[in-house]
Amino acid sequence: MDPLTCSCKKREVALNGSNGAPELLRQLAGGVGPKSQRIRDFVESLRPHQRARCQLFHKFSLGEVRASGGLFRHYNEHMAKVASFDLDHTKVRAPYVRLADLKYTPGGEVISKWDLRVGQPNREVIGTGAMHTFEHLLAMKMRDHLEGIVDVSPMGCRTGFYAVIIGQPAPEAVMDAFAKALADVVAHEGPVPAANPLECGNYRDHDLEEAKFWSRHVLKKGLHVQETILIEGR
Ligand SMILES: [Zn+2]
Repeated sequence: MDPLTCSCKKREVALNGSNGAPELLRQLAGGVGPKSQRIRDFVESLRPHQRARCQLFHKFSLGEVRASGGLFRHYNEHMAKVASFDLDHTKVRAPYVRLADLKYTPGGEVISKWDLRVGQPNREVIGTGAMHTFEHLLAMKMRDHLEGIVDVSPMGCRTGFYAVIIGQPAPEAVMDAFAKALADVVAHEGPVPAANPLECGNYRDHDLEEAKFWSRHVLKKGLHVQETILIEGR
C-alpha cells in the first residue's frame, strides 16, 4: 500500500500498510519530551473540527486498522487523560461549555462528552440539593433543545455537569441548548419531576430555588466556549 498522508495534519504522517505502526501511534506509546507536549501535539493533530476532513483518521475509521484494534484504543485512552485530570482548573473561566472528550465506538461512531461549567472551580460551589434538582431537570430539558443527549450528570466537585451526546454537535449548539435548558429551570413551576421515594434515591434533598439562582447566575454572566487548557509540564 502506498504511504498515506493526511493534509489536515501540520506534519505529514505516513502509514506504511495496515500492519505498520504509524508515526502517530509511536508518538503516543513512547515519544520524547513532556507528556503535556505530546498530548498537545496529538490533540492538535486531531482537532474535532478537523477530524471530518482528516484522511488518516477517516481511513482508520473505515476499518482498515479497526481489525488490528490500534487507533481507537490509543485514541480513547489518550483522550480520557486529556479529558479529566490534565485540565488546568485554575485557568478556566466559568460559566462555560467545553468539549471534554470524544470516544469512538468500534463501528466508528463518535460520542462526545461536554463539560458544562456553572461555578468557578475552587471558588463557587453548588449545594447538593440544587445539584440533585439539576440532575432531575437538565437532561430532560436539554433533550428538548438538542438531539442525541444520552445523559447529563452532576460533577462530584459540584461546580458543573457532564453531558454525554451521541455525535459531535458544534460547541455553540451545546451552549445554546444548555442556556435554553437553564432558562427552562428558571421557568419551572411545581414539584421537581421524579422527586418522590418511588423514583428517587434521596427525594428530600432537592432545592429548586437554588437551582434557579444558579441558572439565573449563568444566564446573566453569559456562557462561552472554553478551550481545554492543559496543566503545564506533565
Ligand atoms: Zn434523585
